[in-house]
Amino acid sequence: ATAPLGSSVISLVNRLQDIFSRVGSQSTIDLPQVAVVGSQSSGKSSVLEALVGRDFLPRGNDICTRRPLVLQLVQTKRKPDGSEEEYGEFLHLSGKRFYDFSEIRREIQAETDREAGGNKGVSDKQIRLKIFSPNVLDITLVDLPGITKVPVGDQPSDIEARIRTMIMSYIKTPTCLILAVTPANSDLANSDALQMAGVADPEGNRTIGVITKLDIMDRGTDARNLLLGKVIPLRLGYVGVVNRSQEDILMNRSIKDALVAEEKFFRSRPVRDGLADSCGVPQLAKKLNQILAQHIKAVLPGLRARISTSLVAVAKEHASYGEITESKAGQGALLLNILSKYSEAFSSMVEGKNEEMSTS
Ligand code: GDP
Ligand code: MG
Repeated sequence: ATAPLGSSVISLVNRLQDIFSRVGSQSTIDLPQVAVVGSQSSGKSSVLEALVGRDFLPRGNDICTRRPLVLQLVQTKRKPDGSEEEYGEFLHLSGKRFYDFSEIRREIQAETDREAGGNKGVSDKQIRLKIFSPNVLDITLVDLPGITKVPVGDQPSDIEARIRTMIMSYIKTPTCLILAVTPANSDLANSDALQMAGVADPEGNRTIGVITKLDIMDRGTDARNLLLGKVIPLRLGYVGVVNRSQEDILMNRSIKDALVAEEKFFRSRPVRDGLADSCGVPQLAKKLNQILAQHIKAVLPGLRARISTSLVAVAKEHASYGEITESKAGQGALLLNILSKYSEAFSSMVEGKNEEMSTS
């Protein structure tokens, strides 16, 4: 199955990439990075995992993400027999392919412990993981430690400031899309995620609000007001999601079942009335895809300009060799022309007129 993130953009990017390679251009489309911010246990890792559509990130009640995880999705070609191969590879274990995604999770945990210790310590040293799959878009996602206030375990007394600085170093980049994650069972006005996103992106051009845990929110609270942006307005709006609970994790509930359960949740609740496009992981993926498509549209004129410049240069060089003909004599003349141009260039280089040899 195609991962929710990228489902509509993958074919667009593929078509463009095909065109570029056909014209021999090195141009590639650099997609923006996507980072998650929020308080500890707000559901950041759960959201990323749901977007990728695979189970591989450490999640839980306690502090789980203790180092930035830079997750590069790399699109691979489907095998000739149509079968697909998905695997992960860590920078710190390069060459070793992980086909078992729960093994990837264990390695993230082990590598976190190696750098940050086993006792809740946090480090800003990245873990870099690539996931190779025919079903993904070439995009980078960043899972970040959540904001905590009270130091526990081996955490230093200034843990909050340290984590904030770490998060800021990622989300201040103007090309970074920010998923600002706030659980529905906490006060939006106190959201660390929205506060930090507001500092990094004051215009709100690249922040999407994500409200998690709609299933366990206070009965008195109106989720619709949150999602409509009536509590805190956000230019790109909010999406509400229901991810797996701690109990689901303990019972090994699959990501597929979780998506079905989410869909059922929204179908049976009035939250969704008139707000269908603000509810559920598939809608979040759709929103991200739309933003990525807009980004691609915005960079296209630049790419087109680069390609036509190189086309003009190639056409000019081509013309300088003379006409291509079918006749032996014509071909001989053309070859002679190319050779004499080459020798001219060569002699002027030897005489020191040119810094380097050029064919144009
Ligand atoms: P992070 O610290 O922000 O990365 O949060 P995690 O993704 O690790 O999730 C923290 C805890 O919240 C885990 O026990 C998750 O199972 C639980 N959780 C996350 N999202 C939801 C949700 O939408 N509903 C419920 N009930 N639990 C959730
Ligand atoms: Mg996490």
